Amino acid sequence: MLLLTPGPVQTDPRTRAAMAVDIAPWDMEFRAEYAAIRETVTAIAGGVPGVHATLPLQGAGHFIMEAAIRTFVPEGGAYLVPMNGTYAGRIERLGREAGRRPIPVSVPDTRGVTAAEAEAALAAHPEASHWVMVYSETGTGIVNDPAAIGPVVRAAGRRMILDAVSAFGALPFTLSEHPEVDAVAFTSNKCLEGMPGIGFAVCPVDRVRERAGKANSWSFDLGDVLLHAERAGWGSYRFTPPVQALHAFGVAMGLYEAEGGQPARLARYRENLRILIEGATALGLEPYLDAEHQGPIIATFRQPPGFDLQGFVDALKRRGVLISNFYTTEQPTIRIGCIGAVTPDQMRGAVVAMGEALAELGVRRAA
Ligand SMILES: *Cc1c(COP(=O)(O)O)cnc(C)c1O
Repeated sequence: MLLLTPGPVQTDPRTRAAMAVDIAPWDMEFRAEYAAIRETVTAIAGGVPGVHATLPLQGAGHFIMEAAIRTFVPEGGAYLVPMNGTYAGRIERLGREAGRRPIPVSVPDTRGVTAAEAEAALAAHPEASHWVMVYSETGTGIVNDPAAIGPVVRAAGRRMILDAVSAFGALPFTLSEHPEVDAVAFTSNKCLEGMPGIGFAVCPVDRVRERAGKANSWSFDLGDVLLHAERAGWGSYRFTPPVQALHAFGVAMGLYEAEGGQPARLARYRENLRILIEGATALGLEPYLDAEHQGPIIATFRQPPGFDLQGFVDALKRRGVLISNFYTTEQPTIRIGCIGAVTPDQMRGAVVAMGEALAELGVRRAA
C-alpha cells in the first residue's frame, strides 16, 4: 500500500524493519544511540551544541506542542496564534485547556499570515508573551514562513513557538538564525520519515532552564526533560520511551543524510507535488489553493459537486493508494500528501489510479 497521507507517512522498508528487535532503553549501547540521535536532530535544526538542546517526548505531535506551550508560556499568560487552519485550532485548544490564554489572529485558510498582520496583532496585544505558529498547515497546504514572521516577533520583543511538525526536515529552518524562537517542535514521523511515536522540541538551553518546573505538569515539562538529561545523561529517558520507534528513527536519519538532507528532501517533495497538481488538474480536479500559496507538503483539491469522498478513497485503496477520508478545510476537499518515502514515479502511478477511481465513480472531467 502506498500512503499519501500527511502523517503517518510512507516509510522506507529499512526503517520499518528496524522495529523488529527487543531493546532495553537503559542499555548502554542504546543510550549511546539515543544521545547521538539528539545531537543529529540539533544539527538538522541548525542549533548550536551547548546552546541549543533536543528535548524529546513520547507521543503524538500534539503532545510536544502542549509541552512547549506549557513550558514557555506562563500559566495564565497569553499568546497569539494565526488561525489559518485546523492545526492552529489545536494550538488554541490545547493552550486554553492548559490554563494559558490563546488570542486567535484571524487569517483565511487559503494563505500564510503576512508580516503586516503579525505586526498589527503583536502591537494590539502587548499582554501576549508568545507568537505560536504552524509552519506548514497540514489541513490545507499553506505555509506560514518563519523567515518572514520571525523578525517581526523579534522586533516586538516577543518569543516564538513554531509548530514545524509537517515542515521540519523539508522546509528550511536554522534555529541559530532565530534568536526569538523558544522551541521548534516536530515528530519522528512526517518529513523525517520515521515511525510515529516521538516528539522533539529543539530549544535554547538557557531559556529551558529558566522555565523548568513552571509547566504545571511533570509529564509535559521540557525543563524537567533537560534537567534529567543533565543529571542522568543525554542517553537517558525519564519514562519508558517507544524504543523501537527511536531505533528506527536512527535508521531514518541515516537515510535522510544519505539522500542529501533538507534540500534533497524538499526537491523530491516538490517534484511529487508538481506531478500531483498537474495530473489532478488534467483529471478535472481544481486545487483549493492558488499556486502562489501552495506549500510542498500536501495538496488539497475541491470536491466535485455531489462527490462521494469515502467511495473515492475506497476505489483508490483497491488500486493500492491510501489517502485521507476526511478534510479539514473550510470547503469540502480531497487531501493528498506529497511527503514520506514516496518517489515521483510512485506519484505518477497514484495519479493514474486517481483517474481510474474517478472514472469508476462516474465523475466527469470538467469541461
Ligand atoms: C501532524 C501534525 C501535528 C501533530 O499531530 P498528532 O496527530 O498529534 O501527531 C501537529 N501540527 C501539525 C502542523 C501537523 O501536521
